[in-house]
Amino acid sequence: MNLLVTGGAGYIGSHTCVRLLEAGHDVTVIDNLCNSSPIALERVQELAGRSLRFVQGDIRNRADLDKAFEGGIDAVIHFAALKAVGESGEQPLAYFDNNIGGTITLMQAMEARGVTRLVFSSSATVYGQPDHVPVKEDAPLRVTNPYGRTKLVMEDLIRDWCASRPQLSAVLLRYFNPVGAHPSGRIGEDPRGVPNNLMPYVAQVAVGRRERLQVFGNDYPTPDGTGIRDYLHVMDLAEAHLKAVGYAAAHAGCEAFNLGTGRGYSVLELVRAFEAASGRAVPLDIVGRRAGDVAELTADPRKANAVLGWHAEHGIAAMCGDAWRFQQQAVAEE
Ligand code: NAD
Ligand code: UDP
Repeated sequence: MNLLVTGGAGYIGSHTCVRLLEAGHDVTVIDNLCNSSPIALERVQELAGRSLRFVQGDIRNRADLDKAFEGGIDAVIHFAALKAVGESGEQPLAYFDNNIGGTITLMQAMEARGVTRLVFSSSATVYGQPDHVPVKEDAPLRVTNPYGRTKLVMEDLIRDWCASRPQLSAVLLRYFNPVGAHPSGRIGEDPRGVPNNLMPYVAQVAVGRRERLQVFGNDYPTPDGTGIRDYLHVMDLAEAHLKAVGYAAAHAGCEAFNLGTGRGYSVLELVRAFEAASGRAVPLDIVGRRAGDVAELTADPRKANAVLGWHAEHGIAAMCGDAWRFQQQAVAEE
């Protein structure tokens, strides 16, 4: 297929592009590079041994999108979004504009071109504070910050759009905690500034870029008191997008899927796994809870297993080992 990937220069998008190219799809990326670099796309092409088409542009700009759709597109994978929870609390309007506004413009451009298949990056954040874990797709949806609000609104808009046209198909992928990197160490997650997420922070402490990890709370009702999450290797996530595109091509309507391993790890368990993978110590301090964090969030991934035929293959050792390989290469290139 001819696939348009929005946000394809970013962390998850770049790994997915490698997998799509390897599987024989033709790929056009549109990205405004607000949180990524064109170097990632060069590396994607090196790793896949094939080239892709890149349109540097903004999904809120219809002319940029029309350029990206030139030549015919069979399906869209929509990653482009702002994703920092804390920043979304400070600048909600920027998040509404970029994420929701951009998605509306994208759907308009798709409709104008008769493109009927959409795979959308949603998030476990749409479950807010769940009543039960592991979470199933039919759990109540509620959000705790403006970033989460944009994901929930975008899901609703896509679902309503799909309901209006019988030929449309949309797959809403609710990612749990994506981590790790391509096993080559050539692409990965290298956040600008202080990392918000646990894995890149741990990797930066291990490599000596930061002194100590702050563990946000050890008084949760979990076995070691620290928060439990469902970490998922980014290469497994890339594979899920490949399956989702195939599913969208074969089925009309809108379906949501959880993407996770179904197995949770606490903050301390993840730190120990990273120490084992890297051979480095990760010094840490226990500090207070971070506002808005939940004790435990894990996926019930059985719908994706059964319907998409997708299973997470990589365990925590590979997630940590690959993140470590990428972190070392990133520092070596500085
Ligand atoms: P990322 O920031 O690395 O990638 C997003 C890409 O979109 C970047 O390259 C950025 O430059 C681009 N972009 C943003 N706004 C744009 C716009 N208006 N026009 C064109 N390009 C634009 O983030 P990521 O971690 O790869 O996340 C990809 C998607 O997955 C996002 O939608 C995010 O909300 C979602 N998600 C991520 C996580 C996670 O933990 N990383 C978890 C759940 C969901
Ligand atoms: N966490 C932590 N220190 C950090 C970053 C995160 O202790 O510097 C904890 C956080 O409280 C949560 C887990 O690590 O229990 C995963 O957090 P992350 O921000 O990576 O993902 P999310 O909150 O989106 O699940």
